Amino acid sequence: MTLDPVTLNVAFVLLALVLGALLVFAWTLNRKVRALLPWGAAFCLIAGGFAVANLGRSHNSYPALLAGNALGLLSYVALYAGCRIFNGRRGFPPLIWTGVVLWIAAFPLIYERQDYRLILVALTTGVYSWLSARELWRHAKHPLASQQIAVVLLVLLAIFNIFRTWPGLAVTSIPWIDALANRWSSEMALFLVVYTPALAFIFLSMAKEHVELGYKQAAFIDPLTGIPNRRAFLQHATRLIHARKGKPVSCLVFDLDNFKSFNDRYGHEMGDRILMLFGEVLTEHLPGRSFGRLGGEEFAAILPMSMGDAKALAETVRRAFSAAGKAMLGPQAQVTVSVGCAASDHATAIKTLLQEADLALYSAKDNGRDVVVAAGPLTSAQ
Ligand code: GH3
Ligand code: MG
Ligand code: MG
Repeated sequence: MTLDPVTLNVAFVLLALVLGALLVFAWTLNRKVRALLPWGAAFCLIAGGFAVANLGRSHNSYPALLAGNALGLLSYVALYAGCRIFNGRRGFPPLIWTGVVLWIAAFPLIYERQDYRLILVALTTGVYSWLSARELWRHAKHPLASQQIAVVLLVLLAIFNIFRTWPGLAVTSIPWIDALANRWSSEMALFLVVYTPALAFIFLSMAKEHVELGYKQAAFIDPLTGIPNRRAFLQHATRLIHARKGKPVSCLVFDLDNFKSFNDRYGHEMGDRILMLFGEVLTEHLPGRSFGRLGGEEFAAILPMSMGDAKALAETVRRAFSAAGKAMLGPQAQVTVSVGCAASDHATAIKTLLQEADLALYSAKDNGRDVVVAAGPLTSAQ
């Protein structure tokens, strides 16, 4: 098979331009995924750089080589910047421009030496690719499947770029390098023609997964407190009861005391802050995701333990909340919670457990509030 480098180069330039435009278009449709813009720019820049450096009559001229490779390196800067933005990281390290600056500064000195130019460009693009892969791997906010594939693709790009230095390193004579570099150029273009759509597709998949995750979180997280909502809690509780296979499970229902009067006295905004504070207390003292906000000033927890242990945990939460309230509003503040506790040592529906815990909660309210009350043991008939 004979590969025509010019045809492949033209195909690559057009392909990268179209993919870049599509990524920018995807960004206009969903501006929340800001990384799509620099990634789109990266594809357009590499197309421009490739066109200037490889196509046309002036492709070996001083300005064409300088500008073409500078555009190519800028494309790698945009690629890396996009990865940082996707991970929600703020700001860029000042060294981000090093590759481009190095190229522009060194070019007058190495213009005559194709081997040096190749080594410099290949190494810098290799480092940018590696940094981009590292960024997506080390600083991923969520374990997205497509992000892991992007890491593999970027590592591949880093290996490819660094491997490109060896024709330059193995220099013995200029004609030999010329031959190798020319042959290499068609293989490089072929690699890029196959690789570029794959990378663009993965970037779009990452954006899609990211948006879907946002919707999922909105459906399962209480927006005020940031803890699981009723729906998420009921799902988790059902799963936990099923997994316990008849081993003890306890359910706690929390209701903030006299919260209506609290709102009247301190204002609704402070009421909201107290609800958030209670969410923080639950997060600190209960196992992750075992609790949720049922609605209003009512919260619940499902725990893989016996009534005795669950009651002790409820006591800890009750005391911690009262102390946190005093720390926030002063020692006079009466910020308290009543807790109803129910337990079962056989697979009982979460609805039944909640009803039982609710009954215990009524007793807690009747008993003067700011207490934990346990329901009687559930029998198999319930
Ligand atoms: P009890 O001790 O018997 O539970 O008395 P309570 O006042 O807490 O109970 P009640 O059910 O009468 O009132 C609940 C109050 O919780 C009324 C409502 O204004 C307040 N509330 C519900 N949701 C929110 C919220 O999201 N933010 C704020 N600030 N208040 C809320
Ligand atoms: Mg209530
Ligand atoms: Mg209440």
